[in-house]
Amino acid sequence: MLKKDFPIFSAKGGSAFGGKNNKDLVYLDNAATAQKPRAVIDVINNFYTHDNANVHRGFYGLGEKADAYYEEARVTFANFINAKQDEIVFTKNATEGLNLIAHAWGRTQCKEGDEIIVSLIEHHSNFLPWQFLAREKKLKLRFWKPDQFGVLHIKDLEKLITSRTKAICVTYVSNVLGYIVSVEKIKESIGKKNIALIVDVAQAVPHVPVDVQYLRCDFLSFSVHKMYGPTGLGILYIKENRLHEMKPFLVGGGMATEVSLTHAKYLQSSHVFEAGTPPIAEVVGGAEAVRYITRIGFSAIQKHEHALVEDIFHRFEAYPFVRVLSPKEGNVGVVAFDIQGVHPVRGRGALRALATSNGVHPHDAASLFAERGIALRAGHHCAMPLHTFLKIPASLRLSLGLYNDERDIDAFFKALDDIKKIFD
Ligand code: PMP
Repeated sequence: MLKKDFPIFSAKGGSAFGGKNNKDLVYLDNAATAQKPRAVIDVINNFYTHDNANVHRGFYGLGEKADAYYEEARVTFANFINAKQDEIVFTKNATEGLNLIAHAWGRTQCKEGDEIIVSLIEHHSNFLPWQFLAREKKLKLRFWKPDQFGVLHIKDLEKLITSRTKAICVTYVSNVLGYIVSVEKIKESIGKKNIALIVDVAQAVPHVPVDVQYLRCDFLSFSVHKMYGPTGLGILYIKENRLHEMKPFLVGGGMATEVSLTHAKYLQSSHVFEAGTPPIAEVVGGAEAVRYITRIGFSAIQKHEHALVEDIFHRFEAYPFVRVLSPKEGNVGVVAFDIQGVHPVRGRGALRALATSNGVHPHDAASLFAERGIALRAGHHCAMPLHTFLKIPASLRLSLGLYNDERDIDAFFKALDDIKKIFD
């Protein structure tokens, strides 16, 4: 029903698949990026058409208006995650936010022999910054391993915490397996120890409410493009009592209060992390994405997506050659799977070569889905440590957005039936 809010689904002559119109597009790759509603596109268009100016510089009308929009958006994002206005930093994406924490906080606070706990289900964006920092500062990385199905348990985390632990880095929702991690329980394991809880909520924000007070985290990062907003904008939350532990990361315009030939004084607020011209139109458009989600409401979003998830898991049961990797429990609509032995030796022509005794390679399967108008993702989804742990090279992943409906799911399973026939 909500597809009508998203112009891409009615774009004539769209480039989606083999010359078909976009109305035939079955977009199940929302974990990569979500489509944009007309409301967001219009706000960005209007900003450039009527109100464009740089922020925090102009003493003229346009500049003041741009400032007002920009700072109002900060309040909108702060309210969205139940933070304070000054705890919100605009970044380029989730990746930049996580790198910023590692550089600006990690480098100053961690010394040789300190320990950082990272889960094995992380996206590379919440894995590599810590691996990089650990190598540079000679820290010890300790890995929070999931169970054999890829599910993290708090009891396994507790065993890893020591007097040297400085930070725990974990995702709220797995970008491969799609389930919610009980991040809100982690502070109980930390107790009174001064350990920073760093949470990647990139896959959570489109699906479930994210509340920094509930999660009791110190840092949190996400990208706005996965929650129906523009690309080029990320949100970094820095709990106010952590700010004094950080050093500037990028230096330049807009973040220094005094500059001499040899020294500079920097802003004492989180704005110190917004050096240079920020993504202004994206910030203004991003705030509209928050309003769009809020108008629909998370309870309606969750109810709708939950019903689709139930249906997908139920229908997969009729396909014994499909191995579903994601757990159903707590799944927000990100389902990883692979296609196992579908009579490979009986595959026809070139397709025969695609099937191995272990099944159809996810990349080949994704192309076959694409030929049938279905957009989904194949590969390691930037989560190689998880795939290595699960002993699979790659997987297929379908991921839902609030506009997906039963027709999309029907189309997906029809394509799966077709693909099976090729190999039968
Ligand atoms: N974390 C998770 C869990 C993700 O799924 C992604 C994107 N796939 C990222 C971080 C990185 O997001 P971005 O590429 O927008 O920085």
